[in-house]
Amino acid sequence: MAPILDIRNLQTHFFTSRGVARAVDGVNLEVPRGEAMAVVGESGCGKTMLALSVLRLIPQPPGRIVDGKIIFDDTDLLSLSEKEMRSVRGNRISMIFQEPMTSLNPVFKIGDQIAEAIELHQKTTHQEAAEAAVEMLKLVGIPNPENRAQSYPHEMSGGMRQRVVIAMALACNPELVLADEPTTALDVTIQAQILELMLGLTRDKDASILLITHDLGIVAQSCSRVAVMYAGKIVEQAPVTDLFRAPLHPYTQGLMRSIPRLGDKAVKLTPITGIVPSLTDLPRGCHFHPRCPHAFDRCREEHPPLIMQNGQGVRCWLHE
Ligand code: SF4
Repeated sequence: MAPILDIRNLQTHFFTSRGVARAVDGVNLEVPRGEAMAVVGESGCGKTMLALSVLRLIPQPPGRIVDGKIIFDDTDLLSLSEKEMRSVRGNRISMIFQEPMTSLNPVFKIGDQIAEAIELHQKTTHQEAAEAAVEMLKLVGIPNPENRAQSYPHEMSGGMRQRVVIAMALACNPELVLADEPTTALDVTIQAQILELMLGLTRDKDASILLITHDLGIVAQSCSRVAVMYAGKIVEQAPVTDLFRAPLHPYTQGLMRSIPRLGDKAVKLTPITGIVPSLTDLPRGCHFHPRCPHAFDRCREEHPPLIMQNGQGVRCWLHE
């Protein structure tokens, strides 16, 4: 089956006074239809810019998509007019941001905001959209949804607001949901609940998910495939079970070693040394070489391509 989203050689650059920052640098990625795929990496690796590129929401200027294709259900989103793109955003593809207040307008009641999203994309009367909004609030577990629809965002807790955002994102039955760190801003005690809710509802609605996260625990629990991003590039891509069983790239191995595992009391957590390089001043050769414990001469000179090994893609000379 063709993937719901097929990103080909995507290049999103930011033209700054310090030089060109290649936030997304030649990314190839397929999101399987009806499945959840994760993109993981540290802050600043380009994963949010990848999601924003899909919706063509890159702040312009200084950003610009300079090359590539974003094929969504047989259509290259980069070939659409802005008007055509508006009928895709929030309708066929929706996005859940990390901070719920990014998506909610503080001066409108939440029921009206969800109803507006429905009215914008579907042929409904205001009354029908208002009723559908209450149904969505019920679906995401908001107690007393008829009354709660009259609340303003500031009258709700962070967890409830993120439930409202999920309701709004799913109100038009999108085929693809882009979720950018959807639980990071929430209290640890409710993160699992919200994640489960989002994944369960998207599954029920047959939507596919591209989940952007730095949390490998979430990926293990919820996704079928994963891509690891570093300095604007995908450095490893694999089915989740393969990646967790045998991570091939030294960066992925480093990420794995830095997460605690239940029961492994004797295993010391090891952070990855060094910091993520500036995107305007990337190291020559493999961009990971200043932090890599296995770097050798070739790594400092030549940038490795994505090398395929048993269905797992890895950008590292060790696997040539
Ligand atoms: Fe490390 Fe070299 Fe592989 Fe880069 S190419 S990850 S520096 S071993």
